[in-house]
Amino acid sequence: MTFDDFKLDYDVLDGIEAMGYRNPTPIQQQAIPIIMDGKDLIACAQTGTGKTAAFVLPLLDKIVNMPAEGINTLILVPTRELAIQIDQQIEAMSYYIDVKSIAVYGGGSGISWTQQKQALSTGTDIIIATPGRLIAQMQMGGLDFSKLKHLVLDEADRMLDMGFYDDLLRIVSALPVKRQTLCFSATMPPKIRALTAKLMVDPEQISI
Ligand code: AMP
Repeated sequence: MTFDDFKLDYDVLDGIEAMGYRNPTPIQQQAIPIIMDGKDLIACAQTGTGKTAAFVLPLLDKIVNMPAEGINTLILVPTRELAIQIDQQIEAMSYYIDVKSIAVYGGGSGISWTQQKQALSTGTDIIIATPGRLIAQMQMGGLDFSKLKHLVLDEADRMLDMGFYDDLLRIVSALPVKRQTLCFSATMPPKIRALTAKLMVDPEQISI
């Protein structure tokens, strides 16, 4: 199987080629068609399987074909390191596309609170955020999620282990109900099942 089989946008395919990816990994083979179809998805997959590209590529394909109307996609992650890593992958994969992304995270060095706020107010298509810092930015105002189409929970089990359950529910309560929700997790404990039951509609499930 090759990436051409997915009927992705040509600019997305050029980005994949520039990344040096030749063939989709198993998680990509399973997840990309489901996400392109607009369905909710629960994917059980470890880091290192190519899970980031499994959701970023089909989302870029959708975004490139939608009018830019504000924040389109929110990706929630447990740590700043993962937020930065996903942001960098999005930048690389969207080399041929006019898509803006920003990582929003707390603590340590990196870009400051004010820089994050400025970047957010200039308009962005994709936000990659840790839950605590996103809530703080939401409380400061200026974040409009009314046009949001996609929500991704990445490493969902780790987010729950870190005590983000209430923060996740609070963030989701500020999002449109009509959206596509994707959940990636290395493990599927009952609390992940409970969370996805609250947030998703008739999700497809895959496991690698
Ligand atoms: P991830 O599981 O998203 O952390 O990805 C693990 C690594 O695999 C990253 O360095 C990706 O750049 C790389 N990768 C993702 N998809 C592919 C692919 N289809 N072919 C080759 N490498 C890939």
